[in-house]
Amino acid sequence: MNILADERSKQNLGRITKVTLQNGRLAGVVTDSILFAWEALTPGTQFEGCEIEVRETPLVLRCFSCKHEFEADSAMLAECPECGQEIGHAVVSGREFLIENVEVEDESPDSDGGS
Ligand SMILES: [Zn+2]
Repeated sequence: MNILADERSKQNLGRITKVTLQNGRLAGVVTDSILFAWEALTPGTQFEGCEIEVRETPLVLRCFSCKHEFEADSAMLAECPECGQEIGHAVVSGREFLIENVEVEDESPDSDGGS
């Protein structure tokens, strides 16, 4: 029963051809280990053979003093390029670890081969 349901859901979805992930600098996940896990875990699933792209998103902070947004290596101590403030900044992005996009193959043949 479960296998049949799985087959049906695969057909409804079409074949997944590409998954794009966002991996923020602060997410604490190493991109290489995602790729390694992907290769190890996907055979036999509906993700088998599909492409994976991991986009590493930079850490962006908003200055505590002047509200300027800038990229930094650390959320703990980073000097604002505008005013020199080093602490208390807010994290704008860089913590996220999420699926950005999933591409599914249509039933019609793909004639546009651009990439
Ligand atoms: Zn500042």
